Amino acid sequence: MLGAIEAGGTKFVLAVGSSPKEIRARHSIPTADPATTLAQAAAWLASQGTLTALGIGSFGPVELDPTSPRWGHITNTPKPGWRDCDIAGFFRERLGVPVGFDTDVNAAALAEYAAAQANGCRSLAYLTIGTGIGGGMVQDGKPVHGVGHPELGHIFPRRHPLDREFAGICPHHGDCLEGLASGPAIKARWGASLSELPDDHPAHAIIADYIAQACHTLFATNAVERVVIGGGVAKTPGLTERIAERARELGAGYLPGSARQTIQRPHHGDDAGITGALMLAMQAQAN
Ligand code: ZN
Repeated sequence: MLGAIEAGGTKFVLAVGSSPKEIRARHSIPTADPATTLAQAAAWLASQGTLTALGIGSFGPVELDPTSPRWGHITNTPKPGWRDCDIAGFFRERLGVPVGFDTDVNAAALAEYAAAQANGCRSLAYLTIGTGIGGGMVQDGKPVHGVGHPELGHIFPRRHPLDREFAGICPHHGDCLEGLASGPAIKARWGASLSELPDDHPAHAIIADYIAQACHTLFATNAVERVVIGGGVAKTPGLTERIAERARELGAGYLPGSARQTIQRPHHGDDAGITGALMLAMQAQAN
């Protein structure tokens, strides 16, 4: 039996399954301080029977360099108490099993990649648009890591002509993508979520434009075949279609792969992250 954790800033989703395709049980706990949350997660996982491996997809930033003594740590998060938390080490010691570890969005990208691979897809990016904006990428089955990991929420889009005044809410960058297009940024401008605003409200075109620019950047820099967009804001009816249309306009047919490049909702819906964490467990078991 494999164990999985999708470690988020507001909740931890836990699951066990015999394979990533078959989740047998799941549980969710609120993210409190590390001592409380990690102990609760370990207790639930241990109560599900004997595990052979655990996979963790975590909020970040995290250390992914396998040669670093801090591998498996959450690093300089502003989230109180979680800075320098050795999350992978805690579970490896407590449960006595190999632990696979990556970002929550790389885990989701792995799960979506596995689903897309059936259609011959070899490169994919996963973007989540919610409380924050993050992204992961998979090329030929491997999550993309560099120095650290991608932080796609913090790229700078060109400002929309109807959105010049808003300063953006990212504490580090102001008007980066997350500062302009995350759920809290939408609320800060218009006092409501995107799905609460009427269909003809300019917010829909403005947010679609920013996310489409991020998709275009992914197509242009990494030549990914598919961008999958999840997260709460992405559930706004019609948004994915608006993003896809705007990204096509921005690309202007120039990119060599444009005929095959698509923007889609997650095949796994809200289960992309936890399914990917089970895949990380399977990989840890095989190593
Ligand atoms: Zn930022």
